[in-house]
Amino acid sequence: MDRKLPADAQAFLQGLLERHRANEEGKLTDYLPEFGATDPGTFAVAVATVDGELACAGDHGHAFTLQSMSKPFIYGLALDRFGRADVHRKVSVEPTGEAFNSIIELEEDHLPYNPMINSGAIAMSALLHHAAPEGAAEQIMAMFGAYLGREARLHEAVDAGALGGSHRNRAIAHLLRHFEVIGDDIEGALSLYARQCVVAVDTADLAMMAATLANGGVQPRTGCRAIGRDHLRDVLTLMFTCGMYDSSGAWAYTVGLPAKSGVSGGILAVVPGRMGLAVYSPRLDAHGHSVRGVEVFRSWSAQWRLGMFDR
Ligand code: GLN
Repeated sequence: MDRKLPADAQAFLQGLLERHRANEEGKLTDYLPEFGATDPGTFAVAVATVDGELACAGDHGHAFTLQSMSKPFIYGLALDRFGRADVHRKVSVEPTGEAFNSIIELEEDHLPYNPMINSGAIAMSALLHHAAPEGAAEQIMAMFGAYLGREARLHEAVDAGALGGSHRNRAIAHLLRHFEVIGDDIEGALSLYARQCVVAVDTADLAMMAATLANGGVQPRTGCRAIGRDHLRDVLTLMFTCGMYDSSGAWAYTVGLPAKSGVSGGILAVVPGRMGLAVYSPRLDAHGHSVRGVEVFRSWSAQWRLGMFDR
């Protein structure tokens, strides 16, 4: 298997769902508006190749929000707009042993550890917002649209006017302000961060976004470039080392692919040069990752020998 999907891809995906459907461990996160009508058993997998071939199984048209899966894409946009030097004056590149929304490591080091956790992501939002207070929201939607190959929109269950951000994220932002990582417009940065979190996707979209990262930054179906080539390797590197927060080590060891999860229940992973993979199932483990998602990725990567060091 190289750039093409195996002939039995569809049946294989169906088999993944069947094998892991009985796992009902984990809980839905409690604060997402989209969960009003979500069946906790919703389950989908999708794969898209760098040639634009797509295979899906399960509830692959079910829409959910990106949440933290937005972070690698926003980091890429910040790199494209401001360059490595300016971006990394605001955020470091070290994994943390803490949760995604931890404030502890900020206290110790003052710079957010990496852009895949909330503190680092809010620092990126502040950078984008500060450079274009009026235009940043449109810029991020245009960027997501380039990956999606269609216009990006916010999830319909979200009232865009009420995009406030949690008190915890507000506390993180104030600490960032205290250490002068971000400027005075805390509300502007938080509202941009909240917006990136509620972009609506389904599992097939997520696989396409991952396939764009796999395809050197070019959307496989539209041929549009979504991120500069030089910065793609930065994004993939940080997805590999930091994308799964304080379980990034176990993920690298078992799945072996650059990836990112979100509390909505999605996980996307990239097989560079070959394909993008996505799983959705909203019950989460203690790290905030989809329980079934992690299990599916473990068997998928092992069976197709996808890990970076398995090939
Ligand atoms: N919106 C969420 C937050 O900031 C995203 C977290 C996540 O998906 N891990 O808390």
